[in-house]
Amino acid sequence: MHAQIRLGRIAGISIGLHYSWFIIAFLITLSLIGRFSAVTPKWSSATVWSAAIVTGLLFFVALLLHELAHSLLAKSRGLRVRAITLFALGGVSQIESEAPDAKSEFWIAIVGPLASLVIGIVCLLLARSTGWILNSEPRTPISAVLVWLGYINLMLAAFNLVPGYPLDGGRVLRALIWWNTHSIDRSTRIAARVGQVVAFLFIFLGLYQFFLGKNFGGLWLAFIGWFLLDASRSSYAQVEITEGIRDRRVSDIMDRDFSAVEAHLSLQDFVHRYLLASGRRCFVVVQNNNLAGLITTKEVTGVERDRWPQTSVQSVMRPLSQLRTVMPDTPAIRALEIMSREDINQLPVVSDGQLVGFFSRSSVMGFLRNRAELFKQ
Ligand SMILES: [Zn+2]
Repeated sequence: MHAQIRLGRIAGISIGLHYSWFIIAFLITLSLIGRFSAVTPKWSSATVWSAAIVTGLLFFVALLLHELAHSLLAKSRGLRVRAITLFALGGVSQIESEAPDAKSEFWIAIVGPLASLVIGIVCLLLARSTGWILNSEPRTPISAVLVWLGYINLMLAAFNLVPGYPLDGGRVLRALIWWNTHSIDRSTRIAARVGQVVAFLFIFLGLYQFFLGKNFGGLWLAFIGWFLLDASRSSYAQVEITEGIRDRRVSDIMDRDFSAVEAHLSLQDFVHRYLLASGRRCFVVVQNNNLAGLITTKEVTGVERDRWPQTSVQSVMRPLSQLRTVMPDTPAIRALEIMSREDINQLPVVSDGQLVGFFSRSSVMGFLRNRAELFKQ
């Protein structure tokens, strides 16, 4: 989930919105207008609209506080937090690495729902101080805003505590299993399985409500369930990978078989003699037997075709100094983290200035596939 609109930074964390967030903001404001005008027929439409918009904005602040609680606790435990992005189904904190231990994971997960719970209670107490009585309809615009915010935050806290990984409750469950079994892989696997069961329940309940109760909220629940199912499935797949390469080094997995081309070669010759002939996409560029850079199809397509004969490989390659590289003894999990963080497909493996191989997702997949075939029970 990448933010498309940047709002600024809080405590070094970049805060952003995904376009899909506007859908939910619009729906919430619309349903608030409907609700406020139904319970308070005496209000002018200007009052109803402003109360709805203010509530919508404060709801956004409350969501942000929930995510900030996760992020700030993660930071205090030494983890790096890159960004918080709000989207249609809430918010995500992009925390760069896994929690170091079960206890940290537990607190990072539970502090979000706790923040929502506190916000909810504070809003309802404030509403009481404006004369609102529990279980009655609010009479003034201010108490209407506070009551709605209070209840929605309590619901947010409760919903997030449902133990469907990767919802907060699922992460709490994972932390507790981790604590007891001392195995992070096993705990993630169990939590992801429970997450899939919860997701199916959401989808089933949502569709049931939609078709039998003619309730559009049901469709929303089913949509959340579908999203959760996808997320828990990919967490499960992720465990298979991290478990398979835990304790492995880059040198155990990397592809040692790569092709080199001379720096002075023209793009014309490069394309016809190497690129097309081999079917490979990435070549190492060497100059006086030293690694100078990399060239892929992408660099070639950046040059117009009639200039290929006069353009050298050297002039368009990505030079070594601009490449992110890893060493043979870098842990494989670290290398995977670097690739997903920097959104790159392969890492050159360099030892004493010499290229010794390439680490890529496909080399990891190949490693896991062969291992599974050779050592299956
Ligand atoms: Zn949360």
